[in-house]
Amino acid sequence: MSRNDDREIAVFWMRRDLRLHDSAAFHHALKSGLPVLPLFIFDWNILHKLEDREDARVQFLHKELREIKKSLRNAGSDIEIRYGKPENVWKEITDTYRVKAIYTNNDYEPYARERDAKTAETAAEKGIAFHSFKDHVIFEKDEILKDDGDPYVVYSPYSRKWLKAFSEKDTAPFACEKYFSNLLKTETADPPSLEEMGFSSFDFTYPSREIDTEIVKNYADMRDLPGKKGTSRLSMHLRFGTVSIREVTAVAVKHSDSWLNELIWRNFYQVILWHFPESATQAFKPKYDNIPWRNDTAEFEAWCEGRTGYPMVDAGMRELNETGFMHNRVRMVTASFLTKHLLIDWRWGEGYFAKKLLDFELASNNGGWQWAAGSGCDAAPYFRVFNPESQMKKFDPDKKYIRKWVPEFQDSEYPDPIVPHKESRERAISVYKSALS
Ligand SMILES: Cc1cc2nc3c(=O)[nH]c(=O)nc-3n(C[C@H](O)[C@H](O)[C@H](O)COP(=O)(O)OP(=O)(O)OC[C@H]3O[C@@H](n4cnc5c(N)ncnc54)[C@H](O)[C@@H]3O)c2cc1C
Repeated sequence: MSRNDDREIAVFWMRRDLRLHDSAAFHHALKSGLPVLPLFIFDWNILHKLEDREDARVQFLHKELREIKKSLRNAGSDIEIRYGKPENVWKEITDTYRVKAIYTNNDYEPYARERDAKTAETAAEKGIAFHSFKDHVIFEKDEILKDDGDPYVVYSPYSRKWLKAFSEKDTAPFACEKYFSNLLKTETADPPSLEEMGFSSFDFTYPSREIDTEIVKNYADMRDLPGKKGTSRLSMHLRFGTVSIREVTAVAVKHSDSWLNELIWRNFYQVILWHFPESATQAFKPKYDNIPWRNDTAEFEAWCEGRTGYPMVDAGMRELNETGFMHNRVRMVTASFLTKHLLIDWRWGEGYFAKKLLDFELASNNGGWQWAAGSGCDAAPYFRVFNPESQMKKFDPDKKYIRKWVPEFQDSEYPDPIVPHKESRERAISVYKSALS
């Protein structure tokens, strides 16, 4: 491929920040003095690991990028949307354009860090600057540390320090649109189709990105009730950056401390993954890797398919399988059931959630699973074993949620519990206790 243009440009490399407003890197690129070309890479390294050819997340990305392309074309510019391994795509891009600088937003996952370090290194060899910015969290890396300079590994003191450090200016948006005249005037190819990338399209209704302030205001009372529409359902949009964390946080600050608290949990897990990348695969508390998991595959399948005979667990798994979402309370119940009642390695459950959740996010998913298994930084104690029956009575008292997902729960066709609660609970406590002593 040869150079098609002699102008020096800056590339804004979009990844998990699929929006054209309030984006730190985009803002800085647009103010750099160079014409800006946005770029998105459908990363072969990530896509080829996905098993489901009808992956709703890939389709979502594709749909959002087509919208972004439309908006940029309306502004007289465009976005390069390519498919391949990032290093190959970058070679094509730098062969085609005179790139002087790359602007991108920080991503804290181990794979992304390695990819970005490699890209920055190759760019430097070509005299291209690589600038990366905090964007999808309010505080990152070393911004909130303990007084002794260590990272927090317990949530409550972290959140107190977070709140103390926070001020309104942390939610000030990064202006982008008013600098659109600095976009590169160009026209690029249409994006690769889903089929070209090995996926197919299908009908799917995605959650809305509108923030429902009534839900936010009532969040403290409603958040634990899976039968009600009591949570924001913004997780997928926060995951892909189709909403900005600053706009979401500003709403939380105004309307609900308890909702803000959840956003701080999200921030906490991002920072934990940054400081402790090994926790992506290992127990945060190493002793927990001594637990002799039973890992019974038939039981695992029953759990995945929502056939455990425990309505709260089965409802959650069926909701997940059908919609790509599961209510947080039920995520806790299903995860506890897998790691305690069934003594199945949390990594199996984590992997299953990663495949199915529209909002799958390594930091929060790993954090949630290690919390449930007891192995996490600030986890439930090992002897806390959720009772799925009492969780149902407490959080779904009118059985609205159960009836929706397990309508047959009182019929003879509904299976008996695959394991008895009392004995499984005792077994879990004793296995954990001896592995940890
Ligand atoms: C085992 C397990 C696995 C999980 N996996 C994920 C995951 O892959 N991706 C993900 O985004 N969340 C995950 N969570 C956290 C939580 O369940 C979801 O964020 C939440 O259910 C999303 O629904 P919502 O958007 O309506 O959230 P709301 O209750 O409205 O909360 C607002 C936002 O705060 C963040 N948030 C809320 N609760 C948590 C939490 N406990 N930890 C971190 N962030 C939180 C999310 O970004 C969420 O969108 C997991 C929790 C558990 C127990």
